[in-house]
Amino acid sequence: MADYMVRAIDAAGNIRIFVATTTELINEARRRHDTWPTVTAALGRALTGTALLSATLKDKGESITLRIAGDGPVGGITCDADEQGQVRGFVREPHVDLDPKNGKFDVAGVVGEGYIHVTRQLALEGTYTGTAEIVSGEIGEDLAYYLTKSEQTPSAVSLGVRIAPDGTVTASGGILLQLLPSASEEEREQLELNLQALGAVSQAVETGLTPEAILGQVMAGIPYKLLEKRDVHFACRCSRERALSSLASLNPADLEEMIVEDGGAELSCQFCAEKYQFTADELRELKETRH
Ligand SMILES: [Zn+2]
Repeated sequence: MADYMVRAIDAAGNIRIFVATTTELINEARRRHDTWPTVTAALGRALTGTALLSATLKDKGESITLRIAGDGPVGGITCDADEQGQVRGFVREPHVDLDPKNGKFDVAGVVGEGYIHVTRQLALEGTYTGTAEIVSGEIGEDLAYYLTKSEQTPSAVSLGVRIAPDGTVTASGGILLQLLPSASEEEREQLELNLQALGAVSQAVETGLTPEAILGQVMAGIPYKLLEKRDVHFACRCSRERALSSLASLNPADLEEMIVEDGGAELSCQFCAEKYQFTADELRELKETRH
């Protein structure tokens, strides 16, 4: 089943809710970056959170970037998503692993302490970056804290990734809930009960629940309206042309060294690990057209 997300609002306009399934997206990220399981869980949560945050982007070229700058062994996580549901991301060190903690992946252990930064590039409002401390390293809680403190939007975020013994992702998904101050105590209590009844979002996805079905469970007893359904998938904006133009910015001596000593160049995209190869002839041509 292809990944997608849904966006809804309660009838009274006090609760905004976003639900995403991201199993394919996270598997593609894992395959491209060859992440080990604890890192797959960490990157998967970060990518899912980024996808959820991108659900309100509308205009062409809008994007959101999440950077988790912790001092743990994963060495930082960077994800971004655009208005078309194209999501990509990477970690600095994909090959680290820690023993499970309380039967769960020790995501907090690989992330460490530090800060999360969220940058929104919006068509009308321009670019804005907000920062908050990493409070637990579990990523969902950190995003919720960031949204509540830095963007003054009281939020709850639930992110989960299930991984098979062979390292592949069997289920991944997330829920983002935003409560306006006008939300009643009854609504809050109802949501809390519903979330408890639902259990882990990754388990809900694993049992085959669609985003709409998860939405229905979280909002049980609260009238709501489905606003939008949007595809999400792993996709990168890199290309051979862009890689070549980044080589064009090198100084001639470095280009000459690549031609003579390496007989060409290979560039790897940080975000998606795609490799682009250039022959010595291509580099020579690049050097000549520039001068
Ligand atoms: Zn790329």
